[in-house]
Amino acid sequence: MKTAVYPGSFDPITLGHVNIIERAVDMFDSLVVLLATNPGKQSLFGAEENIEMIREATSAWPQVTIDQTGGLLVDYARKHNIHHAVRGLRAVTDFDAEFSMALTNRSMWEEFDTVYLMTSAEYMYLRSSTVKQIAEYGGDVSKFVPAHVDERLRRKFS
Ligand code: ADP
Repeated sequence: MKTAVYPGSFDPITLGHVNIIERAVDMFDSLVVLLATNPGKQSLFGAEENIEMIREATSAWPQVTIDQTGGLLVDYARKHNIHHAVRGLRAVTDFDAEFSMALTNRSMWEEFDTVYLMTSAEYMYLRSSTVKQIAEYGGDVSKFVPAHVDERLRRKFS
């Protein structure tokens, strides 16, 4: 059984993330969406809330589970015997950081590989930070996030 982990900050989950998940579940038997929390990085929503939003956004796929870690991805993966990570690539600007992250992870655990999925064109410019900025100024983000995330963003900034 092939399991992959999809790590990220998902603060909050967007339709770009959902698109990657939807495609990854076709490639792997099961997928762990891993909320990587970093105490040094300020997040808009707390981990609990981000997990609830991911859960609701992925409820159509029973093979998707959600977990969180405050540690290294490879440590999490090794502990759970998961040999593949899935990441999304939006533009060449993502490439540098992703390239070094993939190589660093593999240097820490040679049995760990990262699979990259190209963004779907409509989500090419979509990132959580942009969504938060637009929502903060009262803009419409309904095209970018699932309806329940839109609802939470409105509540947050109302
Ligand atoms: P961000 O805050 O930039 O959205 P995350 O850490 O939450 O970043 O992203 C987790 C993973 O999802 C990363 O591999 C990122 O490149 C990917 N991702 C995020 N948004 C998109 C998108 N619109 N299209 C494709 N991949 C995406």
